[in-house]
Amino acid sequence: MTTAPLLRLDGVSRRFGGLVAVRELDMTVTAGAIHGLIGPNGAGKSTAFDLVSGLTRVSAGTVHFDGRDVTAAPAERRVAAGICRTFQTPRLFEAMTALETVMTGCHRTSRCGFLASILSVRGKAADEAAIRRRAHDLLALVGLERAADTPVSQLSYGPRRLVEIARALATGPKLLLLDEVASGLNPVETQFVADLVRTLAADGLTVVLVEHDMRFILGICERVTVLNFGTRIADGTPAEIVADPAVIAAYLGE
Ligand code: ADP
Ligand code: MG
Repeated sequence: MTTAPLLRLDGVSRRFGGLVAVRELDMTVTAGAIHGLIGPNGAGKSTAFDLVSGLTRVSAGTVHFDGRDVTAAPAERRVAAGICRTFQTPRLFEAMTALETVMTGCHRTSRCGFLASILSVRGKAADEAAIRRRAHDLLALVGLERAADTPVSQLSYGPRRLVEIARALATGPKLLLLDEVASGLNPVETQFVADLVRTLAADGLTVVLVEHDMRFILGICERVTVLNFGTRIADGTPAEIVADPAVIAAYLGE
């Protein structure tokens, strides 16, 4: 088992006016791990994801990814470096089909070179076919091969979540951030997502799961960080977390 940290947050804070959404957060995510980030509503979980993915900037502290300081890097550069995410509320283009949606993720990393693709029509067509095949494979991975040509607007909630995951995976990430991916899913879909996360991690992908609900997290994470009012109140194995008086108090006090 490797123990190298893929992601490291040191003293990360984010203020919104007078509100401190994330306060001096230290967090280390081991390469290849399934890491949970939990806490009551408003604890700062989604903000922490925004800070890692570059959607918003830190007010203080540093973010290191894959051995590099990405604190000042824009979101696009972080995608190229291997960070991808899904959102608490899926952000999809309704008019696109599931396949087209996943293809947009593929385009963000087709590293064969911008110039090469515009200079060669043949190359462009070949790229497009390869991207289409890859998007199909990703849809199959999330169990949606039959929905390839369905507009996103016609998909129900669970499949929309899965399309969003497939699009994130299409960027060829090293780190996948899933924000409340299990909320609103039925038990069968929840189990499917849990199995998918395990499969991806077994294949070497590092996954951070944000959840409001502890149960989903405790079953699949090796390590869990707990936030409350922006502050880290616990960090440990699931067994340590459930026995931690500060964690119990935070959840009971909700
Ligand atoms: P969680 O995901 O744990 O429920 P969030 O990270 O969404 O929590 O929010 C943490 C706190 O930061 C909340 O009090 C929320 O209202 C506030 N917050 C988040 N984003 C913004 C923003 N863009 N502007 C102002 N306040 C924000
Ligand atoms: Mg949130």
